[in-house]
Amino acid sequence: MEPIELDPGEYRGTYKLVGGRLCLDFVNTISWPGTEQEHDWLTPPENARRWFAAAGLPFPRSKDTDLQALYESRRMLTSVLAPLAHTGRPKNAAVADLSKAVAKAYEGRVIDPATLAWIWLPPHSATEALNPILLDAAELVTAGNHDRLRFCPSCHWLFDDQTRNGHRRWCDMADCGSRDKARRYYHRSKS
Ligand SMILES: [Zn+2]
Repeated sequence: MEPIELDPGEYRGTYKLVGGRLCLDFVNTISWPGTEQEHDWLTPPENARRWFAAAGLPFPRSKDTDLQALYESRRMLTSVLAPLAHTGRPKNAAVADLSKAVAKAYEGRVIDPATLAWIWLPPHSATEALNPILLDAAELVTAGNHDRLRFCPSCHWLFDDQTRNGHRRWCDMADCGSRDKARRYYHRSKS
């Protein structure tokens, strides 16, 4: 899997779209959450623009788009999706927040008279740009079975296991998977 080109700043790592779903890739824009190495990929505004482009989503044209809504929604989505991936239950308040945000997000969707398909209105704010991500999260949460919503045991990124056998373990075999392999090899050759 190829990393997408985001400015890493001081951080020595890469960002990849590994989640298999929009809402998970969005939550994964924080690397190593809750650790000393924690890194926020959406902090330089240019990165936010690039992330949306890589995810195939429209983003407001204005250079001074206020990004606060991105951070707040990401926090809210993390508080719903991370517990689900860790086989816990999200707090009722977090689900209520998601529900409220999704109700608003629906307003950004219209039926295109030409194609009779749902389309998104072009976003004028970061809040509006988030609409497809919120709806994706709502679909995932209400899908019933969350067995395939997992987290990487190394870096805690979230992913939807779409493999046939359902045995996917790592965010990315080339990163966390091979790091683990190297560690196991090291321990084996030491003993
Ligand atoms: Zn990982």
